Formats: sequence, structure tokens, C-alpha cells
Amino acid sequence: MNRTYEYRLYPRKRERAALEEMLAQGQAVYNAALQECKNYYTATGKRRTALAQWDYFREWRKQPGITLNASSLQQVLRRVDKAYTAFFSRLKKGEKPGHPRFKSIAQFKSLEYTYGDGCKLVYDEARQRMLCYVQNVGDLKLKQHRPLPEGAVIKHVILKRKASGWYVFLQMQLPDPKLAAPNGLPAVGADMGLLRLLTLSDGTQIDNPRWLRHSLDDLRRAQRRLARAQKGGQNRKDKRLLVAKLHEHIANTRRDFWHKLTYWLVHTYGLLALEHVELAFMTHNRHLSLSAHDAALGVFQEVLCYKAVDAGCTVALVNPAYTSQHCSGCGAMVKKDLSVRVHQCPHCSLTLDRDENAARNILALALMSARIEPSGVNVDHEVMRSLRSSPLKRGEWSQRTHHDA
Ligand SMILES: [Zn+2]
Repeated sequence: MNRTYEYRLYPRKRERAALEEMLAQGQAVYNAALQECKNYYTATGKRRTALAQWDYFREWRKQPGITLNASSLQQVLRRVDKAYTAFFSRLKKGEKPGHPRFKSIAQFKSLEYTYGDGCKLVYDEARQRMLCYVQNVGDLKLKQHRPLPEGAVIKHVILKRKASGWYVFLQMQLPDPKLAAPNGLPAVGADMGLLRLLTLSDGTQIDNPRWLRHSLDDLRRAQRRLARAQKGGQNRKDKRLLVAKLHEHIANTRRDFWHKLTYWLVHTYGLLALEHVELAFMTHNRHLSLSAHDAALGVFQEVLCYKAVDAGCTVALVNPAYTSQHCSGCGAMVKKDLSVRVHQCPHCSLTLDRDENAARNILALALMSARIEPSGVNVDHEVMRSLRSSPLKRGEWSQRTHHDA
């Protein structure tokens, strides 16, 4: 299982300058390699590989003043290679892709290392703290806000410049997690909506966070100010930094919210039934796209699944077809538009919040597909079969690994 831990770095002025200089060298390599690929393609119609380019850049590195690590340089070449892989695969499909673009220094933000080759963690005995050694830069102070997980083997390191400063990402391999024993907590179905984030079959409602809307308003204002600022001045630089910091802030708070919410869910319930949502549909629809992005449902499912493994909670994904149209009480079809927020059954006179009705159906589908029949949950097989449930495929009982950053 792979995980990434992110720690903030506190480089001194001189160290920051050295890091910036290495980024500039990385950018120069990226653009030079891209130019060569472009020329080679124009002349021969063929592709230049990273391996072929390495011969040239190995010599290039020997000039004085180059501080870029050899394996980092190779990683930069691989990035160019990756951009061209995408370019050629689109050509093959008969599309007319543009060439991969050159990168400005503002777009070139990170350097990669193989752990132990130019970058590693070192322990400062005297002051009892961890430092991040970077070749040609020095030992950087870092804030180790949480310890590394036990049994972790660090494989790769990424140094990244964000709006708020420098960060180190440690990509490590962990022993595969042991599936915790079932926690014996109640089962619940969850309906993920656009108006309300989550509605659970027991009536719990969890709203889309309002702070995101507020932050997005702030962002829009900041972007407007940036657009009005005169080009080339200090004012524009300040405004751009503000926009970048807001983007970072939104990403951080959103991630924080997901972690807290999913933690609560897996420690409150033993089985979570969710609908399997086709996210591409929502993000490509202009009218729904903002809300879908806000909710970032894909991230939600991923975080939920990996947390569930540790907590002994099972996540079941079911086919969402008709879950909002059927009555969870009697199974009858009760057609309604998206605008109708209350489910009212003319057959059994069940009156329920629309999303809660859907959540109950989702739970019933999951229990049926898995052939689990706990006491206290009333599932009428004859009726539920009419929901056109397809049995869960093996892969849908998700226990995915997680990439933290
Ligand atoms: Zn009914």
C-alpha cells in the first residue's frame, strides 16, 4: 500500500534561493528537452525518448553552476516523455492535438528525487528533530506535525513550491493493511445529493459546507482584482499571490472536511451503502458542474474506502438506478421530478424526505445484493427485485489504497 505524507519546510533565505535556482534549472531542462522533441518530431515524424535525451543532458550537467541532481533531471525528462505519450496517443486516435507547451517558471513548481539520492531525512541529535537534507542546498528545517507511520519505507521525495511556501512530499510503501474485524455498528444507506451533501437512511442530514461558497466568493473577488491590476507591476504580483493562496486554502479546508466527515461515518456505522456515481456525467454538465466539484464526490468515496478498512466498516456501492423513484415502504414506482423534494406514496401513504427515501432504497439494495439479512431491517425480496438491482461485482466492495496528497 502506498501513502504520501506532506510536511512543511522552513528554508532560510539562502536555502530558499538555492531551491529556486534548482527549479529554474529544472525548468530550463524541461523546455530544452521539449524543444528537442519538437524538432525531432518535425524532422522525422518520430518520437524522441527520454533515454535518448539523457545522453545529452548527462554532459550538460557537467557545466559549472549546475546544482540539479542527476535523478531529478531524469525525472524532468520523464515528465516531457509523459507529455509526449499523451500527445502521440491522441494522434493515434485521429485527433489533432497541440504540442505539449513550454512551462514558465511559475508553472514549474516541483522537483522529484529517489529517496537517499540527493534528498533524505536526517535526525538532528543535538536538538532532537528531523531535518530534510537536500543536495547542494543543506539541511532544511521541517515541521513534523505527525510521525511517519510504522514500517514505512520511503521511496520517492518531491519538493514543491506552493503559494504559502515550500513543502516536502514523502511517498512511501507501507505493509498492506489488515482488514479490521467488523465493528458491529448499524448499517446505513447514504444518498449523495447536489442540494444536500449526504442524507442517511436514519434521517441524518449533512450539508454541503457553506465556507466553501464563501471562500469561492473571496476567490472571485480576488481574481477580479488581479484582472484589473496593471501588468508588470508589484501590485499585480501581490494580487496573483493572493489568488494562489486562496486556491490553496480552499483545497486544504475541503480536504480537512472530508477527513473529519469520513472518520465520523466509519466509526458510527458498520456498513455504508452508497450509490455508484458516474462522476464524468456531472462534471461535464455545465449546470451541475460547480456543485459536483464542490462536493468532490470522487475524493469522498476514496477517502471513505481507505478509512473503512482500518475501522472495520464495510462500504458497498450499488447501482443508483431508480433509487429515488421507488417507495422505500412498499416498492411501488412513484415518479417525481428533481424539483419535488418530498416523497409521498399514494399506495402506502409513506411521506418522507426525497433523499432519505433514496437512502433507504440504497441500503436495501446493498443488503440484498450482499445477501446479508440482519435483524431489524425489513427487506421484502419480491418487492426489492423490481428495483432492477444487479448483484454487486466483486470489485465493488471497495478497499482501495489511498494517496494522501
Ligand atoms: Zn409506498
